[in-house]
Amino acid sequence: MDEEIKIPYIKENIIRCLCPTCPVQENSTCAKEKMMNFQELLQSEDDPKPVDYPGMYCANGKAECEDIETEKNCLCNECMVYKEFSLENAKPDFLYCSDGKAMKK
Ligand code: SF4
Ligand code: SF4
Repeated sequence: MDEEIKIPYIKENIIRCLCPTCPVQENSTCAKEKMMNFQELLQSEDDPKPVDYPGMYCANGKAECEDIETEKNCLCNECMVYKEFSLENAKPDFLYCSDGKAMKK
């Protein structure tokens, strides 16, 4: 059975995630609305909940927002989280918002 790669859903990783600036989400009203509370989210003592943040899909799986344009270019391979967890060796190795979380090959 496929085993998931455990990528901690913590602020330290969230602030390194490139999803909020990705072309796939640039026209997404849903993603923009979630980002409106981003500063508040970072200032909170608790780590954010996946439903509140439009990114880290490598850890959490597919995007909740349906108005994303998955034919555009994914930025994951430029991301420091991607590099730290060697996601070039994961399955899938990009477009986690559409294809689901990173699993070991
Ligand atoms: S997973 Fe990749 S394609 Fe999807 S929003 Fe993040 S950077 Fe963009
Ligand atoms: S690898 Fe992609 S989904 Fe994961 S944190 Fe980086 S930009 Fe976000």
